[in-house]
Amino acid sequence: MMKICFATNNQKKIEEVKSALGHGFTIVSLSEIGCHEELPETGDTLEHNAFQKARHVYDNYGVDCFADDTGLEVEALSGAPGVYSGRFAGEPRSDQRNIDLLLSKMKGKENRKARFKTVIALIQGGKENSFTGVAEGEILQQRSGTGGFGYDPIFKPVGFEKTFAELSMEEKNEISHRGKAVKELVRFLK
Ligand code: IMP
Repeated sequence: MMKICFATNNQKKIEEVKSALGHGFTIVSLSEIGCHEELPETGDTLEHNAFQKARHVYDNYGVDCFADDTGLEVEALSGAPGVYSGRFAGEPRSDQRNIDLLLSKMKGKENRKARFKTVIALIQGGKENSFTGVAEGEILQQRSGTGGFGYDPIFKPVGFEKTFAELSMEEKNEISHRGKAVKELVRFLK
């Protein structure tokens, strides 16, 4: 059994990765390895932050580890909020306030194109590898749907007439940024 820590306590993300990996791997969360402090995340790129988090766990807890970092890049806002998507409307982090702020900045904009990007950083036996997944789509004028999390209610992926918040978890995982990055990670680990 290969034991790897996924540097998150988000149970949804853990389940998603466990089901993609299948047998042969034991995925443990941060709390399961006794890591309760906030992980450092001070970089200005997704890749920097993902490696920072994975490195913190690897160096302090001595377990192989991967960490993810996700951003929403909106064309009309020159790529913002990007790496700052989680804290877009400030602390404490709030999906509701983040969406409200984004909708207000998008008022009157014709170009609604946006993309989610996830970088997964893996540190295994000290060696570093990273995997990227992208989902293209557009920002709607208002919320639709109650599933998912984050910016899902206002993001409509290309080729669909529904938002991420209106897709089932399976449908979303199939086409999402994180789903694609996880597939790359799984291909590498297997
Ligand atoms: P994190 O890197 O997973 O913490 O995500 C950073 C920001 O992007 C947070 O505001 C999340 O809510 C948002 N986010 C991450 N993944 C998704 C997603 O799949 N759908 C919508 N928002 C997301």
